[in-house]
Amino acid sequence: MQKRVAQAGSELALFIEQHPRLWVITGAGVSTDSGIPDYRDEAGQWKRPPPVQHGDFMASPSVRQRYWARALVGFQALREARPGGAHKALAALEAMGFIERLVTQNVDRLHQRAGSRRVIDLHGRADLVKCMSCGYQMMRHAMHSEMARMNPAFAALDATHAPDGDADLETDFSTFRVFDCPRCHGILKPDVVYYGDVVPVERRLAAEAGLKNAQAVLAVGTSLMVFSGYRFCREAHAMGLPIASLSLGVTRADALLAHQWRAPLTPVLAHAVELLAASQRALDTQGLSASQNRQGASRSSGSA
Ligand SMILES: [Zn+2]
Repeated sequence: MQKRVAQAGSELALFIEQHPRLWVITGAGVSTDSGIPDYRDEAGQWKRPPPVQHGDFMASPSVRQRYWARALVGFQALREARPGGAHKALAALEAMGFIERLVTQNVDRLHQRAGSRRVIDLHGRADLVKCMSCGYQMMRHAMHSEMARMNPAFAALDATHAPDGDADLETDFSTFRVFDCPRCHGILKPDVVYYGDVVPVERRLAAEAGLKNAQAVLAVGTSLMVFSGYRFCREAHAMGLPIASLSLGVTRADALLAHQWRAPLTPVLAHAVELLAASQRALDTQGLSASQNRQGASRSSGSA
């Protein structure tokens, strides 16, 4: 194991032992090992054109044609993605009792598939679509099947997969037929908070409530460039909670951090989980032998 990874892992394990009720926030970095591309480089800068804006999606039929035609190709990457080592390590930390809340800015549901239960999907979920007029919901893959049937020429295209189930496809999208709400013919949109839109208030409040019960914040694989995630770090800092970050690159919250490990996520998390599991086992053994000693002592005093 690299020295940098080993050191970061043991520092992280120590941080968790000192603050065993963590409020965790995750971002694109935890899912890149699962084959889901991200938007930003290590300096926190866009490495590709920013995603569609909420206002443009709602206002323009041609933006929606382009969006759904590209999604027909690119969503496959999201559907086929499997949880990676970082998801599994965070699920293990939850099983060990260290996670108060896990707030993710990802929309891929991979934390849940890895076994995490205390998850808030801050920016929604990409596998659901919702009617913006009547609230009707359907699974995204069902909508995609309908659109593939309606657009056989587009369904046969291929292109490089891009973040958020997008694809780098450039063609004439004007003939693409978008599938509308089967109940009211309204606009269907992935149940995802787009840029230019806001996080639903009850979701934000649930995340904040978790912060009040936590002892520290751990940011994993996120540059915290998006305000909806960064705001929690500002709140945590104001509350006096220590904040630690594990990511490859810089974060917007660098000035607020008590610890910062710039290292690959999966090996560092896995090492921390190993160390914590070993120390839990050691405690269990001690506890067991202590209680055996007590039982032994009470037996001998009883027989005397
Ligand atoms: Zn509708």
